[in-house]
Amino acid sequence: MYALPIARLIEEFAKMPGIGKRSAERLAYHILRISREEVQGFSQALLAAKDQITFCPECQSLTDCVPCEICSCEKRDHSIICVVENPKDILAMEKTREYKGVYHVLHGAISPMDGIGPEDLKMKELLDRISKGNVKEVIMATNPNIEGEATAMYVSKLLHPLGVKVTRIAHGIPVGGDLEYADEVTLTRALEGRHEI
Ligand SMILES: [Zn+2]
Repeated sequence: MYALPIARLIEEFAKMPGIGKRSAERLAYHILRISREEVQGFSQALLAAKDQITFCPECQSLTDCVPCEICSCEKRDHSIICVVENPKDILAMEKTREYKGVYHVLHGAISPMDGIGPEDLKMKELLDRISKGNVKEVIMATNPNIEGEATAMYVSKLLHPLGVKVTRIAHGIPVGGDLEYADEVTLTRALEGRHEI
């Protein structure tokens, strides 16, 4: 149906997450339409990202400097570690400008259904960091879904014998939300996380 090089290109794009056959086809034809220089720039960006980005040996986030900018910042509180599932979650937390501690990226969450266990995550690296001491609190900021909760519970049990305080971020009604439309789980969480005013 397609000339072989086009078929190959479509096949590669279709391997990308969230890209179906139709989108892959559209992207492949887009590549054929743009200039050779643009294609070269694109392919160089792909390789540069792959070659220059590595895991930060401290927080396991993706970085082009070792240790990463946050881990090497002396102004931050290195005794508080916020555990997140993905590097992108760090950006979300940083937007708040409220958090001054450091991070640890697990690169996923425990999910028995998908065959993902603690050994598939950066769990040992977290334990190693805590074992070195100097950590007062670990904030579990994994997603508020079954996998995220299971991961938070697992870490809590794992770190309990080490005498580190493990906390969980509160979940509840989003700002601008409406009680009427909140589901029971969200409302229950909001009630559990209530605080005195
Ligand atoms: Zn780091």
